Amino acid sequence: APLLNVRSVETYYGNIRALSGVDVEVHRGEIVSLIGANGAGKSTLMMTICGSPQARTGSVVFEGQDITRLPTHEIARLRIAQSPEGRRIFPRMTVLENLQMGASLDNLKHFKEDVEKVFALFPRLKERQTQRGGTLSGGEQQMLSIGRALMARPKLLLLDEPSLGLAPLIVKGIFDAIKKLNKQEGLTVFLVEQNAFGALKLSDRAYVLVNGRVTMSGSGKDLLANP
Ligand code: ADP
Ligand code: ADP
Repeated sequence: APLLNVRSVETYYGNIRALSGVDVEVHRGEIVSLIGANGAGKSTLMMTICGSPQARTGSVVFEGQDITRLPTHEIARLRIAQSPEGRRIFPRMTVLENLQMGASLDNLKHFKEDVEKVFALFPRLKERQTQRGGTLSGGEQQMLSIGRALMARPKLLLLDEPSLGLAPLIVKGIFDAIKKLNKQEGLTVFLVEQNAFGALKLSDRAYVLVNGRVTMSGSGKDLLANP
């Protein structure tokens, strides 16, 4: 069974239908992306998975459990971590304090070990560990946001446009780090992106979202070959 199974989801903002009959599956160990232009419904789908109260039909199942009606904090407890979260990083806290905020109470006992893993993945964060979050560059803030999500030791990492507004070289560094985590630790990742090329290269499988509908799906390689 898939780790995450989104079935026939329709989401509404008032009378406006933002998602129509969306089906998405993410299996353990996969990197899956959902690609779409601005306004396609990517953020809406992320929020739907994470328990936003928007009106919707269909179901979201995680590890066999129906999470369609669960509130956001209960979804986090199932170790689904999201980056960036609605509130993003804490600008007045240091890098290290921000990472601490990502660790659940259960994880504080291996806090040091987990922080070292994040620093190994993103050496820039190690150099800046005593600096306040708000003083970091955009790319470093993105790394910090992902690092904080990883501190929860997620079973599923959700990434909402990790390349947004960042220079190509920074994006490559972040995508390489995600790939490395996936290869080395088997981390399961679901990301939404406008950057089709980067996301398809990174992904095992991908879905294309147009005006709230999935119009294509397949392996990253196949979709790259037939854009
Ligand atoms: P994306 O993340 O792909 O850019 P969104 O999920 O943000 O797309 O938006 C999908 C559609 O829903 C768009 O047509 C957008 O205008 C609409 N929408 C998003 N948020 C709201 C909202 N709070 N109220 C009304 N319409 C919204
Ligand atoms: P190599 O340079 O070893 O042949 P690739 O160029 O195929 O390898 O890419 C190595 C890794 O970098 C891949 O895992 C891919 O996800 C990532 N990558 C490559 N190009 C981009 C890009 N434009 N955007 C994001 N990630 C990329």
